[in-house]
Amino acid sequence: MKATCWHGVRDVRVEQVPDPGILNPGDAIVRITSTAICGSDLHLYNGVVPGMMQGDILGHEFMGEIVEIGSSVKRLKVGDRVVVPFPIACGQCFFCEQKLFSVCENSNPNAWLAEKMWGHTTAGIFGYSHLTGGYAGGQAEYARVPFADVGPLVVPRELPDDKVLFLSDVLPTGYMAAEACDIVPGAVVAVWGCGPVGQFAIQSAYLLGAERVIAIDHYPDRLDMARTVSHAETLNFDEVDIVDALRDMTGGRGPDACIDAVGMEAHGAGIGYVYDRVKQAMRLESDRPTALRQALLSCRNAGVVSVPGVYGGFSDKIPFGAVMNRALTIRTGQCHVQRYMQPLLERVVNGELDPACIITHHLDLDEAPQGYAMFKHKQDRCIKVVLRPGH
Ligand SMILES: [Zn+2]
Ligand SMILES: [Zn+2]
Repeated sequence: MKATCWHGVRDVRVEQVPDPGILNPGDAIVRITSTAICGSDLHLYNGVVPGMMQGDILGHEFMGEIVEIGSSVKRLKVGDRVVVPFPIACGQCFFCEQKLFSVCENSNPNAWLAEKMWGHTTAGIFGYSHLTGGYAGGQAEYARVPFADVGPLVVPRELPDDKVLFLSDVLPTGYMAAEACDIVPGAVVAVWGCGPVGQFAIQSAYLLGAERVIAIDHYPDRLDMARTVSHAETLNFDEVDIVDALRDMTGGRGPDACIDAVGMEAHGAGIGYVYDRVKQAMRLESDRPTALRQALLSCRNAGVVSVPGVYGGFSDKIPFGAVMNRALTIRTGQCHVQRYMQPLLERVVNGELDPACIITHHLDLDEAPQGYAMFKHKQDRCIKVVLRPGH
């Protein structure tokens, strides 16, 4: 089959690789019909996530048709059309029983490596570094899906791929970030970052009762989408001091909740050769850690700061005094996608959410390298690229 493979910094190639097969009785094989490039894939593209190896198959946002199931799979059958959540979860461990799927204890075979870096491990994640299990990803014609009875959501035939694909990651990630904000009617929410997760965080905040959402970015196209599609007020951080502006817009008090949907190029100590690369990337992306600091300094006293943005290691100069003295609550985590897929599918069916609104480009799988380059450099108003294998 054809697959998008990682070969180093800004080097991805679509190559012929062996087809995946059933390895465990709980596996399923999916023939992929749509798969997206995610902002967090750019951390891999930029070479700042440790634990990548030449030839690793990328992609954690994908959907398609079940073409083969293992002998113990009961919930799915061949021919089902499914969206696959990006965290791989066993469904039976201490955390899965509490629906905390993104920290499943059983799905990351390389947990020991992640524990060295983070103290504890995350769940396994498709197409995302050997630190999170080294699972082959979904920017390919086929993928093996472990624990198939736990993750994939069967979706109705009548909904096009573009309306349901983002149930795999960015829609639940944005929704969970807004849900974490304890929004009450009349609340003001500020959202840093107007990429896909930011757009869905804005829309979810309104769904959950926010009266005003203020979105922050500096790419004009993204601010435009935040205004016209997601209906936020917007601030450009190249033009105004964000902390001051937010204070002015909220009667001097600050937003009730702040969402950091920017994150920071992932980094961490412990693997020496990666560390220098990371520091290099940090200089290139110097505006990024600013979002979390601004959120912590802007939020009103006793408010919530919700962080769906990806952080990988250690962050400098976090104003923890502000967190403590002003009684802030911080909520974060990789999204427990499995928990949100069915309820969000219902909101899509009801017309409350139209996830296709963020798509700016459809490309063939063969064009994945151009898709990565365009997305990285934000060319051609690129916000979300969907690849369609077999087109
Ligand atoms: Zn993603
Ligand atoms: Zn589990």
